[in-house]
Formats: sequence, structure tokens, C-alpha cells
Amino acid sequence: MGPSGDPMAFGLFKDGEELFDSALEEIKRKEYDKAQKTLNKALDKNTKNADIARVYIAFISVGNDLNSPGAYDGLKNRLESLKQDSFQFGLATFDTEMLKKECACMSACISARNMSDSSAKGNALMEAARNLMAAIGNNNLRINEYYTGNAITGTRMATGLMAEANEILADDIFESDPQKAAEYQQQAYNFRRQNGESGEANLRKMQQYSKACTCWICGRQVVGEGLHFFLMSANPSPQQVEKDKGEIQHSISESRDLYVCRACYTAISRRADAIANGYYDKALDQMRAGDAALQAQILAMDARITRLQTQISFMRN
Ligand SMILES: [Zn+2]
Repeated sequence: MGPSGDPMAFGLFKDGEELFDSALEEIKRKEYDKAQKTLNKALDKNTKNADIARVYIAFISVGNDLNSPGAYDGLKNRLESLKQDSFQFGLATFDTEMLKKECACMSACISARNMSDSSAKGNALMEAARNLMAAIGNNNLRINEYYTGNAITGTRMATGLMAEANEILADDIFESDPQKAAEYQQQAYNFRRQNGESGEANLRKMQQYSKACTCWICGRQVVGEGLHFFLMSANPSPQQVEKDKGEIQHSISESRDLYVCRACYTAISRRADAIANGYYDKALDQMRAGDAALQAQILAMDARITRLQTQISFMRN
């Protein structure tokens, strides 16, 4: 008997079922770490509620890191062996089948997002988003809702992911195919608008990607500002500016800079670098030559001084 006179007050004396009941109370009080420990103790004491206890432990693990695909996989595995159509967690009720789907979708979405190769990531995100839309649709994502209080439907999250995927694919292909990149940005824009966002960034990129010019230097037509052509500072004559206004694809910008294609731009920059380096090396050589002449003069002066000193001391003696 403890000081309170009640052996039940001590976890030490509780059996599996009593521990399980304590854990339920802890979950209701949102003391999740404590609940996880109590549930593990209940399992050690062979509680009859082992399946649901394991579900609870996994459910708490997901709450501890909502961005861990492994935590969702773990919960899904525990739900597979749960022989109940629904269950209570705290004050909320969850549908076992729906939650299994949600775990699978969330795990796939987060895994796709963690990929490093852009093209693979974009495509995996799209597939994960489509599955999310089909499996959860306009129902809320329950786990996220439970832990964060934000009610987001599967469709809404999927729409956001579709936008993200299209943006990633646009960035990935921009270098080789700006036209295709603009199409991806158009898709991303549509998805952003569907979610009530402005999509301004997508519009800006679309304009940039599809902006075309005629290179002032070589006369080639190029598409994609910032990658396939650049602006170069110059001072075109008013006559040249006037003449360029009549062209369909301009060579002179509104700020009177010249549009120059990537090839011309890099050729000029590299040649200019080489010339500048040449001047630098030449200046360095001249400085070294001057240095040597000075050194020779100093040595000659030294010799004269020594000679004079010898003569002076000779005269004194
Ligand atoms: Zn050019």
C-alpha cells in the first residue's frame, strides 16, 4: 500500500488494461510523449488492446514529425492489422480505411518532394497529387487537421502539388526548350488560380520564357530572356533606335540596351577577359623590367659609395 492508500496510484502496480486506460487519458490531455511510454508499458504487460495501442503509438509518431514518410508508412502498417472500421483518438474519430489511404498518399507526396533529380521529382509529384485527388478528394486530410488545426482537403493539397510539379518541370526544361517551359508555367498558373492564388510569378516567367529578340550582332532570332539572350549596355544612334521600332523582333530594348544572343555574348565576354588579362600580364612584365633596372642602379651606387669611403679613409691616414 502506498501513502495514498491506493496501489492503483502507482504505475508499477497497474496491469495492461489499466495502463491502456491511463494512456487514453493522457492522449485526451495531449500528453503524447507520456502516452507513448504508457502504451509501451501496456504492451509489455500484454494488454488485450495491443493492436489499437500500436496504432496509437504510430499515430503519435506521425504527429511528432508530420514530414516523415516513414512515420506515415509505420502508421499504415499498424492500421493493416487493426480489426476495427473506425477508432477514437483523443476526441476525434477516424475511419480506418480512409486513414490508410491518407497515410499512403502523404508518404508518396513527401517522398516525391524529397527527390533531388528535378525531372523525376516533378513527375513523381504529379503522380502523387493525382492519387491524392482520387483517394481523398474533397475530404479533409485528417492527420494534418488533428495536429495543426488546419482543415485542408485532399483536392486543395493536390492542386498545390500539381502547381509545384509544373514549376519544377518548367525550370528543368527551360534551358533546352523555353517554349515547353512556358507551357508548364501556364499549367502551374491554372492550378495556382484554382487554389485562389494570384499566379503572378508564373505569368512573369511565362513572359520571360516566351520573350523573343533578334541578336543585334549576328541577327539570329532567339527565345528566352535571361538564358538564351541578354542585354548589353551600348549607345545606339537615334536613327538605329527608330529603325528597330519597325522590327517584329527587336534588337534594342526600351532602355536602349542591345539584345545579344548567348553565343555572341559569351564570345565577347571571353575575348574581353582575354584582352584584359593580356594587358595585365604586359603591365606586370614592364614593372618587373623597371624593377631590375632600379636594382642595377642601386648596386652601382653602392659600389661607388664603397669606393668613395675607401678613398676618404685613405686621405685621412
Ligand atoms: Zn548573336
